[in-house]
Amino acid sequence: MLHYPITTLPPAKYFFPARQTILEFKNNREAEKESDKKNKVIFGLSLFDLKAINRLDKIFGEPTQDEVYGVTRKNSILISMSEDFDPKNDQAFDLHLRKTGDNKYIAWVGSKQGQKIVDANSDLFIKSKDIRKKYKPSKKYPKNKRAEILANSKGDKIWDKLAEICFGCGICSYVCPMCYCFDTEDIVKIEGITKCEGCRQRSWDSCMTADFAAISSHDFRPELRDRIYNWYHHKFVRMPKEYGFSGCVSCKRCITYCPAKINFRETLDYLEEKYG
Ligand code: SF4
Ligand code: SF4
Repeated sequence: MLHYPITTLPPAKYFFPARQTILEFKNNREAEKESDKKNKVIFGLSLFDLKAINRLDKIFGEPTQDEVYGVTRKNSILISMSEDFDPKNDQAFDLHLRKTGDNKYIAWVGSKQGQKIVDANSDLFIKSKDIRKKYKPSKKYPKNKRAEILANSKGDKIWDKLAEICFGCGICSYVCPMCYCFDTEDIVKIEGITKCEGCRQRSWDSCMTADFAAISSHDFRPELRDRIYNWYHHKFVRMPKEYGFSGCVSCKRCITYCPAKINFRETLDYLEEKYG
């Protein structure tokens, strides 16, 4: 069976784990960074999850490559699978497999590593296509009507209604393959308590949580309605503007795991109907 049921945490989080050390220091100097240098094969990715990793590559890669993310990605081989769909030219992978019957596969080769796997297992494949040269990430996001819709809806009662039922728990961000907000923390050596000599760690954060936008003397978004609005605005307005793609790959994890049963698609449908 090639399909996997929706996982709670998406495979994209292999590259952006819940907590990771981004630098270590010893004797007042930066020590060699702890990065995940182990080779990994992420096997059986759905095209949704593959798309999310491709998008995170861009987010963590530009304008400056995030070193920790970059090292883990560089040491990983992505093998995606589908039963019905072929990959598109704007998706990057090492190997994509589609089952055709009799346990044979059509293989789309996306990298040298992918070619090596095909060469070493040629009896498994009925044909392979090398699409490395055709890989073209899309550069332009189609005209985004949602920017106007969301701008016009900022005062709408929908945000108050959502705030009445939302717990502000952040689960929708933690399970989302396209959410990448984080907090950082410096940890100093405490004998018997901390393991590192001194290090900086980053951990997941969510724009839905109460103190996300709080600084020493001010909170930029104390109201939950505004934090909910910001979640939509970032995914569907600011990300398309900045990166050329939205912050959603339609995996539905946020809908499945929201304890308040909030379905963001219904909110977007309501807004599109009213302001579109
Ligand atoms: S998972 Fe649901 S309840 Fe929790 S912050 Fe997100 S929308 Fe609100
Ligand atoms: S459906 Fe929800 S969890 Fe999945 S990518 Fe879109 S916003 Fe994220």
